[in-house]
Amino acid sequence: MELNDRAELDTSQVNDLGRGGGSGRGMPIPLPTGRGGLVSLVITVLVALVGGGIGLNAATNGDGAGGEDLEQSCSRDNPDRFGNVKCRNLLYVNSIQDYWKQEYPAISGRQYEPTDTNYFGQAVSTGCGTADSGVGPFYCPADKQVYIDLSFYDELASRFGADGEFAAPYVLAHEYGHHIQNLLGTNERAGQGDQTGPESASVRLELQADCYAGAWARHATESKDKSGQEALFTSITESDIKEAVETAEAIGDDTIQQRSGGGINPDQFTHGTSEQRQRWFRQGYDRGDPQVCDTFGTGRL
Ligand SMILES: [Zn+2]
Repeated sequence: MELNDRAELDTSQVNDLGRGGGSGRGMPIPLPTGRGGLVSLVITVLVALVGGGIGLNAATNGDGAGGEDLEQSCSRDNPDRFGNVKCRNLLYVNSIQDYWKQEYPAISGRQYEPTDTNYFGQAVSTGCGTADSGVGPFYCPADKQVYIDLSFYDELASRFGADGEFAAPYVLAHEYGHHIQNLLGTNERAGQGDQTGPESASVRLELQADCYAGAWARHATESKDKSGQEALFTSITESDIKEAVETAEAIGDDTIQQRSGGGINPDQFTHGTSEQRQRWFRQGYDRGDPQVCDTFGTGRL
């Protein structure tokens, strides 16, 4: 993939909260992370599905407890900006939201509501409670925002072997898929269904988010920058798509369970198998249309 040097990024879509960001008043209580990655990814979906049930409602639009001035670092005047992980991820967020701004009205008859991504380090207070980095990236339905500790990508590479550059946009597009589901009311309905198991509401929700990520990837090179004049990506190749698919494979429930040495237990599935995650991402990508992401109505999950 190549990013467009001339693109003007919309920094209002990302908040850099810095370490322990969010509350600006001392450290939130971290969640226990247990066995690192495995537990992390499992909790990710819980957070995504809890929907404000765990209490705290600290404001999250922090004024940057140590955060970086993205306006400056990610400006077009800085020729090295795409060497900065924060600027690259900002571009991905801009692209994903520009796609949904175009596409969401077609599937819902309503306008897309943009939402922010929050970069944090170590721990963060959200509308879904406090979380630490161990939970991995997540979407909080209660405050409708995305949260990510960007060091997650290092863990994805080292622990899960998903070291391709396109892993990052895939992860963000998946989280924004949860935002779309929240706007559509899909995750509220799914929250009433089974939360674990091979055909659970949770698995259907997660696979749909993968499919939405694929639909975005298909159209990502069409997305425009803040000015509406410049493309954000100058190219995305089949090898980028392969990296997204490999990431989907690496974080399938069966693969994670197997890696943790406990054997495969479908009753505990929350996100779908590696095969399913790859297939649904591909489905969204190949067809380029979120309407083909009906994981709730399908006979073949
Ligand atoms: Zn998810």
